[in-house]
Amino acid sequence: MPQHEDLGRGVYCIDADYLRPRLAAIYLVVDNGEAAFIETGTSHSLANALAALAELKLDPGQVRYVIPTHVHLDHAGGASAMMEAFPHAELVIHPRGARHMIDPSALVAASEAVYGKAAFARLYGQIQPVEEQRIRVADDGTRLELGRRQLEFFDTPGHARHHFCIRDATAGGIFTGDTGGFCYDQHKHLEGALLPSTVPTQFEPEALKASFARILGYEPERLFLTHYGEFRDPATQADSFDAWVDRFVDLCRELGPRDSAGERALEHRLGECVRNRLDVDGDNFDGILGGDMRLNAQGLAHWWRREQRD
Ligand SMILES: [Zn+2]
Repeated sequence: MPQHEDLGRGVYCIDADYLRPRLAAIYLVVDNGEAAFIETGTSHSLANALAALAELKLDPGQVRYVIPTHVHLDHAGGASAMMEAFPHAELVIHPRGARHMIDPSALVAASEAVYGKAAFARLYGQIQPVEEQRIRVADDGTRLELGRRQLEFFDTPGHARHHFCIRDATAGGIFTGDTGGFCYDQHKHLEGALLPSTVPTQFEPEALKASFARILGYEPERLFLTHYGEFRDPATQADSFDAWVDRFVDLCRELGPRDSAGERALEHRLGECVRNRLDVDGDNFDGILGGDMRLNAQGLAHWWRREQRD
């Protein structure tokens, strides 16, 4: 089995092997002998990235950019490992993410607090600082050349404030990280199956809807979802995506999740809501979407509690 899936027009999808097969993607974009990785997976994902390069007869020295869409660890956790493996690469990151790449200790501590040290090491491995002089900050509107194509960066808050998306007009697509939502293979044929990711700690409903509208405003033929893979005809999701955000927020407001018991109740309600509306098999549901429902409930609860304080 080759490591890479050829999505055409110089875009390849690689499985980061995070938690389960085809949960988190790394993209490789190749143009005229230059390569860029968009998303890094975790430090354990590097072997797959190297194997894909070798399959495509590319040398690590040809990698010009390493581009995590934001600094959540399933996207940026492998950044330092990639920067070590690709000596000529620049790390391209959102202005709010740069300091966490230079000094990842806060990211690591926050994650260790959630998972515990042992589980953290198993999930993410070693995360090292990236040298400041190898980091390029991409503000809204930044364009970078890769071979004969351009990668265009735009700011997309709502999932996280340190999130940008990348437009590749040559590929007819946008790399949407988590701002463009998630949808796994098992659900891509269902109507309205692209779901918003509302994880802790910077979920903002109105900003997320505005960012999604901005993505669709470019009229992409396809999205390159990190979770997971190519998603065609995204314009069909314009109404349903916003409706999901509103529904999740309404359920959260209704429940008012003050504590962890409230979060678990919300997780249950979110799951019920998604299962019913998508009409998906209950037996498989937890295996495919259970983890996302848990994190979405935690992020919604976090947002709601902050809103109560303000
Ligand atoms: Zn994220």
